[in-house]
Order: sequence, then structure tokens, then C-alpha cells
Amino acid sequence: MKAAVIHGPGSITCDTVEDPRIKDPHDIILKVTSTAICGSDLHMYSGGIPQPRPMVMGHEFMGIVEEVGQNITHLKIGDRVVVPFPISCGSCFFCQHDLPTACEHSNPEHYGPEGGLITEKGGALFGYTDLYGGYDGGQAQYVRVPYAHIGPRKVPENLSDEQVLFLTDIFPTGYTGVMWGNLKGGETVAIFGAGPVGSMSVKSAMLHNAKKIIVIDTQQYRLDQIKSLTGCDTILWKDAKEVIQQIRDLTDGRGADLCIDAVGFEPDRNILDRAKAVLNLEKGSIKVLEACMSAVRRGGIVSVLGVYPVNYDNFRLGQIFDKGITIRAGQCNVHPIIDQLLEYVQSGQVVLDDIITHRLSLEEVAKGYEIFDKKEDGCVKVVLDPWK
Ligand code: NAD
Ligand code: ZN
Ligand code: ZN
Repeated sequence: MKAAVIHGPGSITCDTVEDPRIKDPHDIILKVTSTAICGSDLHMYSGGIPQPRPMVMGHEFMGIVEEVGQNITHLKIGDRVVVPFPISCGSCFFCQHDLPTACEHSNPEHYGPEGGLITEKGGALFGYTDLYGGYDGGQAQYVRVPYAHIGPRKVPENLSDEQVLFLTDIFPTGYTGVMWGNLKGGETVAIFGAGPVGSMSVKSAMLHNAKKIIVIDTQQYRLDQIKSLTGCDTILWKDAKEVIQQIRDLTDGRGADLCIDAVGFEPDRNILDRAKAVLNLEKGSIKVLEACMSAVRRGGIVSVLGVYPVNYDNFRLGQIFDKGITIRAGQCNVHPIIDQLLEYVQSGQVVLDDIITHRLSLEEVAKGYEIFDKKEDGCVKVVLDPWK
């Protein structure tokens, strides 16, 4: 089959690889009909989250069930499903506690940046490095979906692929950032990042009746897109202080009730050795997270959706304590909320596919990564068709 394979930083190509096979009675094989490139894939592409051997990329995908393992009873060949990006067994402590991203069975190896005295274990994602379980992803014609009795959700025939594809990741992720904010209605939400995740946060803040939504990005064209789709306020990031002051000016000097970091760790793209650029923890790389702490009001909440692959030990704890800030962070636990979010799409309360700017074939995957990474050609979200 054809698949997008990573060979090292900056190198993702459409290769011919072996078809996946059922390995466990709870597996299915999915024929992928649509798959997207995510900002999280860019962390692998940049070398920030390194992958030492070639691997099939992709954790945002959907398709038609091609083959079922013998223990799969609720799905049959021909069913059309979307698949949450975390791989969850459904039965371990964490899966039972609505924390599929911490599943103990799907990734028994240790992973993650040194978390202190003892590194945590667990948590697997499709197509997201050996550290996250080593599973091949869905930027391919076929993908093996483990624990298929837990993840895949059938989608109604009247909804197109593009209408539901983002239920796999970015809509639940954006929604989670807002959900963590405990909005009652009428609040001000500042969203850093007008990429796909930030855009989904805007849509989710609207579903939660936020009064004012302010979106901040370094890319004017992305701000223009989200403003034209939702009518939100926008601020072009030139300087952190200026952005924080503007947010205070819009909130009677207090700051936003909720700040969402939908940017994450940004490697220094001027350094040619990309791995070194990431490991060189210069202050600039977490400037968005620091801005969130300054732009949030006292007693406010900061949701960290952007990925931080490495530790940073010089954080302003004094400010966090003094302001009484609540911080929530992490990979999105898609499974507990995906059914409710599908209902929002079905009822027309939210539209997800209006952020798509590029539809490419899988063979054009290298171009897809390049324009998404470099923010060229007005690129916001790339969807790939493995069969074109
Ligand atoms: P993206 O890279 O397209 O979006 C990031 C945006 O941040 C871009 O529009 C970029 O211009 C903007 N940006 C860069 N520097 C900025 C600054 N100083 N101020 C304001 N904006 C700035 O990717 P995306 O798909 O939207 O993903 C965003 C982040 O969310 C990534 O780190 C990704 O890994 C992460 N993510 C997390 C989860 C999760 O489960 N928590 C899920 C999906 C994606
Ligand atoms: Zn993603
Ligand atoms: Zn589990």
C-alpha cells in the first residue's frame, strides 16, 4: 500500500510499504478514506519529538472497515468510522477513569520527558513515535486499529468525511481547552494560535457562550481566516508585552478569564540543526505559555493544548502562585467526549470543515507537510486522500 513515512527531520515521503495485518482479535483493518496533517505531526517533522526509525505517520483519519478481528462484534466490514487518536484498551485503571491518553496496556514501555524522580509509563497514539507506542499511523491507504471495540465511532451516511474527520483530534482538543475553563457564559477567552487547534477552540468557546473571544497569532492570514469564519477579535503577535497589554485593555485591565495555549513549543527555525534547535531551551520557545500566565486574570485558568516535548525548569511559579492560576495541560482524552461532539456536528451547531485550505493526494504528502510547516500558500489545514 501507499503510506506517508518519516525518515528523519524534514523528510516525509509517500512510500510503498507492506499492508497492515490483524495481529490481535480486537484489531480491525481500516481502509482510510480521509486523513489530515496535524500540528502535532510537525513536532516529529521538525525533530522536536524524534523518531529513530521509519514509521507511518498520521493520527487523524477515518475510513471503511476492511477486516475485523474475531472478538470484534459491534463493527462489520463496510462500516464507516472515525477513530480517536489515542489508543485506549478500555479496561485499565486510566481507561476506566476517562484518561485514554494514559492507557497502561497500549504502551507498556516508558515514555515522556523525565518527569522527576521516576518516569511515568503508558499512553499511546497512532503514528506518533516509538515513545508513544510505536504504532503505524493512518496517513496511509490502510491502518491497523488496535482495541477496535473501544475507539472507532460509526458516522451517519449523510455526513461527508470532511464534516466529521476532525472529531478524531482537533475538535475534541479545542473543546477540551474550553471545557477545562469551566465557562458559565459571558466570559472572555484569549486563544493563542489561529491554527487548526486554536480555530477549534474558538468554535468551542462559542458553543460555551463566551462573550468575547480574542485570537492571537503571528500569521495575519490565519487571523483573517478565523475572523471571517467566526467574527472573533484578533491580535497580531509582534511582541509579548504588547499582546498582554491589548488583552488587559479589552478586559477592564483584569485579563482574560481563560487563556488557551494552542501553539506549544516552537523550535528556533533559524538554527539549521533542527534537533539542536529544540534542545536549546532558549526562553523564546515558551514565550506563548508565559504570555498566557500574564494575560490571564487573577484566579483564572490556563489550558495548555500546545505540545511541550521537553522540560523547562525556569518557570515563573511566583506569578502562578500570586495570581492563583489554575493550569490544565495534556493530550486530549477524546473517547469520553467524542459522542457528544458528533451530536454537535450532526445537529449543525458547529461546522468543522471550513478551516480546510488544501486537499491533496497522499502522493503529495511531502508538499503538504512543507506548506503546513512553513505556513505557505495560505495553508491552515491539509486533508489527504489516499486513493486519489
Ligand atoms: P499549527 O502549528 O498550525 O498552529 C500553531 C499556530 O501558532 C500557528 O498558526 C502559528 O502561526 C502560531 N504561533 C506561533 N508562534 C506564535 C506566537 N508567538 N503567538 C501566537 N501564535 C503563534 O498547529 P495546530 O494543529 O493548530 O496545533 C497547535 C498545537 O497543538 C501544536 O503544538 C500541536 O502539537 C498541539 N496539539 C495538541 C493536542 C492535544 O491533545 N493536546 C492535539 C492536537 C494538537
Ligand atoms: Zn492531531
Ligand atoms: Zn487502557
